[in-house]
Parts: sequence; structure tokens; C-alpha cells
Amino acid sequence: MKQDKVLVIGASGQIGTVLSDVLRQQYGTGQVLCTDLRPPATAPEGPFETLDATDAAALAAVVARHGITQVYHLAAVLSARGEQNPLWAWELNMKAWLNVLEVSRQQGVQRVFFPSSIAVFGQHADLHRPPQHGPLHPVTVYGISKAAGENWGQYYFLKYGLDVRSLRYPGIIGHESLPGGGTTDYAVDIFHQALQHHRYTCFLRADTRLPMMYMPDAIRATLELMAAPAAALSVRTAYNLAAMSFTPAELAAAIRAHLPDFQVTYVPDFRQQIAEGWPHQPDDTAARTDWGWRPRYDLTALTADMLRHLEARYPAVHTP
Ligand code: NAD
Repeated sequence: MKQDKVLVIGASGQIGTVLSDVLRQQYGTGQVLCTDLRPPATAPEGPFETLDATDAAALAAVVARHGITQVYHLAAVLSARGEQNPLWAWELNMKAWLNVLEVSRQQGVQRVFFPSSIAVFGQHADLHRPPQHGPLHPVTVYGISKAAGENWGQYYFLKYGLDVRSLRYPGIIGHESLPGGGTTDYAVDIFHQALQHHRYTCFLRADTRLPMMYMPDAIRATLELMAAPAAALSVRTAYNLAAMSFTPAELAAAIRAHLPDFQVTYVPDFRQQIAEGWPHQPDDTAARTDWGWRPRYDLTALTADMLRHLEARYPAVHTP
């Protein structure tokens, strides 16, 4: 049997940095090709190539040269950055994804992963607990591109049999890498500021409830979905995925349990409006039923683990 050769596009980003490491452990360092517009923050542990995913010819050449069998397509402009330049965000998000789908179809790639988002729901959705197959009327260019991307993935599955799989990630929180311009970025930044300065200015209101997930759960969900038997999958747009749901005030209180003098002030900006169109906690019953999804981290466990890892980075500042 042909050994899997995995391509990660957008490998230097918040999720790609961590996912690439785990994929290298799973498949072997030489079997995972990491690509991005920019190099990774630390020296790559395995093969890395500069690649612009909007360049179809360059992408096709990489897939052919390395005999790629699986693609994880992470490159995108995220929600907050996308609103600063909507047409650029649409162009990048859609062009790169359509290139991935078309090159994968032409070259017989076996499996493709597309990260969707809670940004797909928007107007008329049940924002308290949106079901798997509820209405999708996103109001950000990011959400529109993710909803369209999900449907394009399903189209390639139905029309060409390309095995495309996708998750609607909530806000992802991790200590290994920094987020790249999303509306849930505060939930990572707050930990760095708490340990360095004992105070944080939050760009969302204290009571803004959003769904979140700790990085190890997000990576495990991705790999579990990609390993599931195709026959088990009833959703070929993107699976709702949930772990925890909290407000900035609740996260601040969880951090204060470890750092009692931690102070937060709230100065909402344009991201408040984006967050208000996002759900509290999607219904992820289909993921649980089809491929056994179960989160392992709640807010208490996430907070303790984040602080434990980041304390090592800011020891002098943290020590009272
Ligand atoms: P990120 O912004 O940290 O990383 C994206 C990477 O893509 C960057 O390293 C960037 O240099 C690269 N990139 C941009 N344009 C490119 C191009 N044309 N060709 C090649 N690479 C390019 O994003 P992330 O947080 O790691 O997110 C990864 C994926 O997951 C994205 O599709 C995002 O929409 C999705 N997602 C993320 C979250 C989250 O909370 N982080 C939540 C929901 C969905």
C-alpha cells in the first residue's frame, strides 16, 4: 500500500504550527510537507516549502512532485482581518480553496481537510444552540467564504467523489502559537497579558458568550474526523464541533483563581459586532454520533494548562 504523503497549507499559522507537529509524529517527519507564504516562527522540524495557495500552477507542481495523498488546507484570512479588506479576503479564501479542490481532483488526492468556522451561522440562526443543518446567513466576508467553502467541498464530494472533510471550529486557544486576526483572539492574548502585566484590555464586552476549544481537542478532532471510515460520515459540508462556551468575564475569573490581582478592562471595538452574530454553543450531536467526538478540556482545565505552559515563558514576571 502506498504510504501517505501529507501536505499542510498555511502550516506556519496558529493551528498549522501545532497540527504539523502532530502529523509528523503520526506519519513520520519526511512524510509531511509544510507550506506557507511565510516560514514558521521556529526552525522547521521537517520539510518546508514556501507556497502561495492562490497560485494554482505552483500548488499543482508541489502536489505532483511530492506524490501528495492528503491535504490539510489551513490558509485563510480570518474574521477580523477579513473585515478590514473584504474583497481581498474573499479572493484569497475562495481562490486558494478552489485551487486545492481542483488540483486534488485532478491528481487523485485521497483525502482533503477544510477548516470551517462558527462564523457560518449569522442572521436567522438559533444563536443559542445552532443545529447541524440550520440556516446559514453569515454577515462577515469570512463567514460567507467559509459557508461557500463548505458547499464547494460537498460539491466536489458529490460530483467527483473527492473525500473532503470539514469541521466548524469554535475559537481555538493554545499556548504554542499566536492567533492570526480572529474575533476570539482575546482568549489567547489574555493569558500572555495576565502573566506579563497582570492586566488586560479586552476588545469584547464582559458578557459576550462564545464557543471555544483548547488546541489539543481541536487537533484531536481534526485527526479523528480524517481517520473516520467514509461510510460513517453523514455530513459533507462541515460538522458542528463544541467543547466549552464562556464570556470574557468568566475567563478572567478562571484566571483570577490562579492570579488573584489580575484586572481586566473592557473596551469593545468593531469585533464586538462580529461576535454578536456568532453562536453560544453549536449542537455537535452529529459529530458525536458519526465519529465519536468528545471534548476533554473545559474552562478550568484549559486555564490551568495554559498558565502552566506560559508561566515557563514568563517566569521572572510571574514570580511574586
Ligand atoms: P492563521 O492566520 O494563524 O494561519 C493562517 C496561515 O495561512 C498563515 O500562516 C498565513 O501566512 C497562511 N497563508 C495566508 N495566505 C496564504 C496563501 N495564499 N498561501 C499559503 N499560505 C497562506 O490561522 P489559524 O488560526 O491557524 O487558522 C487556520 C484555519 O482554521 C483557517 O482556515 C481558519 O479560518 C480556520 N479557523 C481558525 C479558528 C481559530 O480560532 N484559530 C477558528 C475557526 C476556523
